[in-house]
Amino acid sequence: MKEVRCRTFSHWSHQKVLSRTQMISAGFFYCNFGDRVICLYCNLICQQWTPHTDDPEEVHQTLSSLCPYVLFILKTRQISTASIINDSSNNRTLKSNRLRFNEIVQASAFHRAYVEISKRQSSFNSWPQEDLPSVDDLVRAGFFYTGSKTIVICFYCNGSLQNWGSKDNPLIEHVRWFPLCPYVKQLCDDELYRKIQESKRIHQERVEINQIERNGNFSNDHRMKNSQLMIPDENTLSRFVAARLDLPISQSLLNRNFKLSVIKRCWEDQLRLKQNDFATDCDLLIACIILQKQIDHINGRQENIICTEYQDENDS
Ligand SMILES: [Zn+2]
Ligand SMILES: [Zn+2]
Repeated sequence: MKEVRCRTFSHWSHQKVLSRTQMISAGFFYCNFGDRVICLYCNLICQQWTPHTDDPEEVHQTLSSLCPYVLFILKTRQISTASIINDSSNNRTLKSNRLRFNEIVQASAFHRAYVEISKRQSSFNSWPQEDLPSVDDLVRAGFFYTGSKTIVICFYCNGSLQNWGSKDNPLIEHVRWFPLCPYVKQLCDDELYRKIQESKRIHQERVEINQIERNGNFSNDHRMKNSQLMIPDENTLSRFVAARLDLPISQSLLNRNFKLSVIKRCWEDQLRLKQNDFATDCDLLIACIILQKQIDHINGRQENIICTEYQDENDS
């Protein structure tokens, strides 16, 4: 949850006024609009922050003292400053939110026909076998065989890999190239996950050094996922958005009574602003909740938005 909150601040352009670290720590999500932020637990919406003087945590506590985040995270943090307290509070609101995310993860496998292990297993009937990882390991790591060359695909994230070496470990390669896949993430413990990411970072640094040495000859690794989308015009944007509305995650949000216009707007904002897909399904869900809450709570009435500047003038 905290990671998702951090990612909403990826395009926060008010770093000089107030740091995103402060905002994140105070429990806020960024709305991608001016300096407007929102707390999803108490629906407090704040904007027009005063440079250098406003303390987001203080503002949150003062304006919304009964907010679960304020009570269970901010207050607890004040009592025991020595230990790090993250979002794993036992508060009911937080807990039920987390359950909802898990449900969405279950419902949004990219290739639902291959959710069952036995289905993935039988896809490997024509697997070439020699000098390749074992079928068992591939299946356990979430892959099914496409029937072509050595190309396998993850039933969950749709990530595909090929050109296997006999010593490759499918689980490790899955994490290495598709670190955001929730399926593979839950297969390995935090320690292993961290190690794989670390080794990938070192490997990438080496690749970059090699590229510089080869005098700017940027040959892309065939396995590399291209993360930035090219969106030259609005036409391309709407094609991209339309394709994403067909994704299982968009459909499952529709089934959860999010309006199509809300889901569509979230995709548009994300692609236009960040030229990139949502890092996880959870990020899209949160984006929809943030937008929906702004619609519900602002409802065209400016007085529902708290401008901290205005508050300060009143105080003094
Ligand atoms: Zn709050
Ligand atoms: Zn995957």
